[in-house]
Amino acid sequence: VVNGKKLIEILDRIADVIEENKLMLTELDAAIGDGDHGINMSRGFHAVREKLKDDDGSDIGIILKKAGMALVSNVGGAAGPLYGTAFLKAGAVVEGKQTVDVADLENMLKSALEGIKMRGHAEPKDKTMVDAAEEALNALNSSNAAGESPQQAIKAAVDAAYLGLENTKDMIARKGRASYLAERSIGHKDAGAASFALILKTIFDELY
Ligand code: ADP
Ligand code: MG
Ligand code: MG
Repeated sequence: VVNGKKLIEILDRIADVIEENKLMLTELDAAIGDGDHGINMSRGFHAVREKLKDDDGSDIGIILKKAGMALVSNVGGAAGPLYGTAFLKAGAVVEGKQTVDVADLENMLKSALEGIKMRGHAEPKDKTMVDAAEEALNALNSSNAAGESPQQAIKAAVDAAYLGLENTKDMIARKGRASYLAERSIGHKDAGAASFALILKTIFDELY
């Protein structure tokens, strides 16, 4: 169970982890995009940190909404509005809640993924962040349904996100800048799928 204060700490840690992995994310994007994903994400999550500095942590929905708005309005690239929508949608399903559990997390991830798909019109196998998110949600859903512990379920989601990221390597990009390369995008992992997996892993690491 996570309260608002802990969630703000997690988001803070995500900003640091993105910063630590800025070069890796940028290099992935440089291979088949324009090489700014690490920079975009870093800018975005520092804006999230700034926006939440004075938040009292009393409402999980409001925290996620603020985070989403910071991402939408501070990140120039495609990923900003997509992650922004994801956080706004995740926040909408936990409005007014002081704490969230692993069942809430599943709802939040489901709603976030719907938001990403709605905004970017990407489907699985288009070689985007959707490929990491979809695998993660399916794993979380299965683990929760099987009655596994929250720790097991979230770990399963992280592993699945990384599997989804690996799978993007063999895909042809059909959305975003990488789609301009068509077949030539094969052999490279998607940067947005990498940041998605990294964010999920950071959540797990902060919790366990
Ligand atoms: P930009 O491409 O504008 O420079 P970024 O480099 O920050 O933006 O983000 C690129 C990432 O955004 C891609 O690796 C991909 O995962 C994701 N992305 C791009 N377009 C879409 C889309 N339509 N739907 C889902 N994800 C997308
Ligand atoms: Mg880019
Ligand atoms: Mg760009």
